[in-house]
Amino acid sequence: MSGRGPRVLGPGRDNPDEESMKRTTSATQPRDEKAAPRKAASPEMLGAHVSTAGGPPSALPRGAAIGASAIQLFTKTPNMWREPEVTQEIAASFLAARDLHPVAVAVSHDSYLINLASPDPALRARSTEAFQGELRRSGALRLEAIVSHPGNFIDERGAGLERNAAALTDALRAVPGEVRVLLETTAGTGTVLGRSFEELRTLRDLVGDDVRHRVGFCADTCHLYSAGYDLAGDYDGVWEAFDRVVGLELLGCIHLNDSKTPFASHKDRHELIGDGSLGQAPFQRLMRDPRFAGIPKILETPKGDVDEVTNDLRMLALLRGMVD
Ligand SMILES: [Zn+2]
Ligand SMILES: [Zn+2]
Repeated sequence: MSGRGPRVLGPGRDNPDEESMKRTTSATQPRDEKAAPRKAASPEMLGAHVSTAGGPPSALPRGAAIGASAIQLFTKTPNMWREPEVTQEIAASFLAARDLHPVAVAVSHDSYLINLASPDPALRARSTEAFQGELRRSGALRLEAIVSHPGNFIDERGAGLERNAAALTDALRAVPGEVRVLLETTAGTGTVLGRSFEELRTLRDLVGDDVRHRVGFCADTCHLYSAGYDLAGDYDGVWEAFDRVVGLELLGCIHLNDSKTPFASHKDRHELIGDGSLGQAPFQRLMRDPRFAGIPKILETPKGDVDEVTNDLRMLALLRGMVD
């Protein structure tokens, strides 16, 4: 969601996830390992990335305004290196806001500047530090998980995977806690890692075995389709492959986004559900699929130019209507 402007939420206009995320957070759901403490009253876990303009606690009333039972947010400005800490006061008001506006799941989305796979030691160190900040903030806010983009390998794919896993391991060891990290499927633009299930699996396998249980996955429908996984033409085959290679039990979050670009474009440009190349059908399958009933589903679709809520309200109504 783009950031700079007034529009904090942004997955708006061209929202490449990257841009759109500037304001997003994600949701995740620990359904395998330890139970999520805040898991819920509501069986439905559906919502959107919401803005935190005004501070993290503001995400909760924004989620309530669209009737979300799951939200994603940024714990800081995602396109800046500044790493604010969450004070006890902020954490307390976040939790109070969460009591007032309950959601089943609240996840964060990490900064776009972070590149844990970078071959540049200075950038990698800075990224690791920033990622630790994300872990600390998310822990202080008691978020269920952090959705994280695998990094850009720049020079060599295999080496990039190893660097990414090592940095992730270091960060998880440095910041113990319950917060899970959900590695997001990517569109495979340029040298970004995460374009295939095999690569995501390898990345997790390379993480230290003492912290690997904290690592799961987030599947983004736009990114999958752009990466060459045909959710529109072969829905069953895509999930069969995911389950075989990665394991559905490690799926902690789904990002619901249509795509502005054609199948296998390797581009990351989100579109409103039903208005893009994926069309409504795969989303209806997802919404009705019992395997995903307990998985948080988060919209990162364009907020539009009118206000923060109109598009999200329409998208959520559309998705809920698909279930009946
Ligand atoms: Zn993302
Ligand atoms: Zn996403």
